[in-house]
Amino acid sequence: MPKVAKVLIDGATSDLQFDYLVPDDLNDRILAGCRVRIPLRNRPAIGTVMAIVEPGDADDTWRGKLKPIAGLVDQEPILTPPLFRMADWIADYYLASREAVLRSMIPQAARAGEGTEKIRKIVVLKTDPDSEAFDALGKRAKRQADLVTYLRERPGQQGFLADLTGSSLRFGRPTITALEKAGIVEVRDETVARDPFAGEEFLPSDSLTLNPEQESAFHRIIEAIGTAGEQAPSPILLRGVTGSGKTEIYLQAIQHVIDQGRGAIVLVPEISLTPQTADRFKQRFAAIQKQVAILHSHLSQGERHDEWRKVLRREARIVIGARSAIFAPVDNLGLIVVDEEHENSYKQETVPRYHGRDLAVVRGHLEKCAVILGSATPSLESWQNVDSGKYELVELNQRIDDRAMPLIRVIDMKLESRKNPGGPAILSSKLRMAMEERLADGEQVILFLNRRGFARSMLCPECGFVAECPHCDLALTFHREEDRLICHLCGHGRVAPKRCPECGTRAITMAGYGTEKVESVIRSVFDDARVARVDTDTMRRKGQLQETLKAFKQRKVDILIGTQMIAKGHHFPNVTLVGVLNADIGLHVPDFRASERTFQLLTQVAGRAGRGEIAGEVVVQTFTPHAPAIQFARHHDFIGFATQELEMREQFRFPPFLHLAVVTVRSVHKERAEFTLQTLHRRLKRKLPEGIQMTDPLPSPLVRSHDQWRFQVTMKSPSARRLGRHLKEIIDGLTFPEDVLVTVDMDAYNLS
Ligand code: ADP
Ligand code: ZN
Repeated sequence: MPKVAKVLIDGATSDLQFDYLVPDDLNDRILAGCRVRIPLRNRPAIGTVMAIVEPGDADDTWRGKLKPIAGLVDQEPILTPPLFRMADWIADYYLASREAVLRSMIPQAARAGEGTEKIRKIVVLKTDPDSEAFDALGKRAKRQADLVTYLRERPGQQGFLADLTGSSLRFGRPTITALEKAGIVEVRDETVARDPFAGEEFLPSDSLTLNPEQESAFHRIIEAIGTAGEQAPSPILLRGVTGSGKTEIYLQAIQHVIDQGRGAIVLVPEISLTPQTADRFKQRFAAIQKQVAILHSHLSQGERHDEWRKVLRREARIVIGARSAIFAPVDNLGLIVVDEEHENSYKQETVPRYHGRDLAVVRGHLEKCAVILGSATPSLESWQNVDSGKYELVELNQRIDDRAMPLIRVIDMKLESRKNPGGPAILSSKLRMAMEERLADGEQVILFLNRRGFARSMLCPECGFVAECPHCDLALTFHREEDRLICHLCGHGRVAPKRCPECGTRAITMAGYGTEKVESVIRSVFDDARVARVDTDTMRRKGQLQETLKAFKQRKVDILIGTQMIAKGHHFPNVTLVGVLNADIGLHVPDFRASERTFQLLTQVAGRAGRGEIAGEVVVQTFTPHAPAIQFARHHDFIGFATQELEMREQFRFPPFLHLAVVTVRSVHKERAEFTLQTLHRRLKRKLPEGIQMTDPLPSPLVRSHDQWRFQVTMKSPSARRLGRHLKEIIDGLTFPEDVLVTVDMDAYNLS
């Protein structure tokens, strides 16, 4: 009696699951988690086996009508059983379809099956001619002899066909064909594993001797790892000030887990997943370098596929990656590390809207393995979880070698502006003087600019006209290099006007400033300093960021100007001064996390100063010097900040005391979006379960984006489950017009 497989079909917008018969010859090999080829309405399709139903669970008439599975896409299941359970958890918690969840768990290239591995033609020296034959060949056909000589010297006596015929070697196809006919070479296909680190050498780095504080933190972690397997240990929140040696602890904990024959996953924020970070891990595990897989969004599809398969084949036991690496199919997992756990980039802003850190905790629970969440400025969510006993707290309060925390000076820019009535000063006189001193001593400076929402926009001083994007509710940003106005949301661009399009005045000017403007001011003030700028505009070219950072590290640059991109993780021992040009930008956004983000950012940025022998100094320019986020950051007082901020959150009933979900309705038709949301809102309200609160329907803070109008209601609930169930019940019971999109963002981070 054949078994029946429940197969979830790929590519559908909502879940399509059908039953298929398991053919006899594949009886033992088709398991839950296998990718299979199946007929669907007489067309070939691909799907994932969600479950196998044993014979006897169903009646025969139904069985008789089923079609058999046509074949396997991969020889083995591509999801491990805990990952399967995690997929269910995600679908329920974040209100996403199973299909959407699987789509984000398995890289696109890997979904298509093994056939997508890269095949290259290679030319192999099959029968090496003896010297006599070789001489004869040389007289008859010199190029053929050259090719033989070339192949003789190559490792494995072979070369890629494309390289041989390429522009530097220039062997012709006829030369190769002639040698092939003579039986001297052979041309064949070879599967190539694309290694993003190909050609790089890693010098092994040894474990450092931990200082006493690290030692005791490490000990606690080893204990947790020890109890894993039987029961899930509590996740550990490792709060360690910047430069306290957290990474060294991760490395040694991973080593410990690997020695036990288990695997590890390390999540790092996308932005700090630079080659330096990856290298640190590759170096430490140089002896088992091939066992380290790197997963992030800048890899090519092919590279990602290969790295992922290395994990699946158990060749790689350590995975380092951005948020989606939490789905890496590492089996027998011993440890998950989430570095910079407070980072908002762990939250995915498309369906399924999961949070990588929260999934690390879920996966740790399912796999009964240890989880470390590390940060200098933990998220208030995690801090609260320590308070409620869900997480265990481990702290590092000293920097390595007791280096002092940098001195932070706060400059009131309102006073500076009064001194300088010509417009907003970019550089206060204190910062300028500090820079002069540091540069004179041959030290390096980082200038940090928080650009969110305060880029240069075009403003008419006569009529108040502001150049806005026609598709989004956002001012356009002026880019001087191209003399264009560009929308930072949708990319819409147009030539910058010379006169105000409304009133025709020529006095149209720029409000605010961006990194470009800062760069030109800095170049003119410090005319013999070497200046470089890092932001998304200058870093479009692949590898550019690495080059600039490398030059800075090698002291070929004196002043580095940049946005968020340079705030994290980098280690520049010669940087002794960090200037924060506009600290309060992030404070004036309509978001209850604004203060938390500002505190985190200032602390991270300050952490870049004084990581070497010389003490560091930070100058923070702000229009609101007394804001708590700025004052607590100035005193390096995380606990003070967290305590005060949590009190406010509790009083105003915000996360982490409640779960918050944003329900957004989008459409190109404004009325339809508004009307749909009103209907939805009425339904949600009618049977609102006890304890759930909701706002009235409102325009989203960003009311229009990419031509879509957006309206939203925000809901809060002590229980995410209860809120999710209510939302699902109401939304599933309604049908929405085709051009209206309804989304739910559970535990939302982006409120606009
Ligand atoms: P964090 O991750 O907490 O910011 P890192 O792990 O990057 O800190 O450590 C900061 C610097 O201190 C690194 O250069 C690291 O190599 C060094 N370091 C860490 N632990 C030790 C140790 N036990 N002995 C000597 N140097 C150490
Ligand atoms: Zn736009």
